[in-house]
Amino acid sequence: MHILSMMLAMKHTVICLMETSTFHLGYPRKDTCSTCDELVLKIQYAELKAAEGSGEDQQQYKEEHQNLVTEHDLHKRRAEIFYTTSESSSKAI
Ligand SMILES: [Zn+2]
Repeated sequence: MHILSMMLAMKHTVICLMETSTFHLGYPRKDTCSTCDELVLKIQYAELKAAEGSGEDQQQYKEEHQNLVTEHDLHKRRAEIFYTTSESSSKAI
């Protein structure tokens, strides 16, 4: 059964949608979290640029890449915290 992992994936998407709708009111609703989409795209771009760049440029993109990865991590963690605090004491996972 993959119900648990399905629920976890849904949970993240739902919370992300709630989170992003408060920050980006008026954005069209999508199936995926727009913040995640945007960050993943930026991460991929920085990764690409870091790979093809050289010298200072490369260093800059590497730093940017690291920052974006951290930002995405924080975003996902915020969603987790939001969920756990609103659900208070169900820590079965
Ligand atoms: Zn998200």
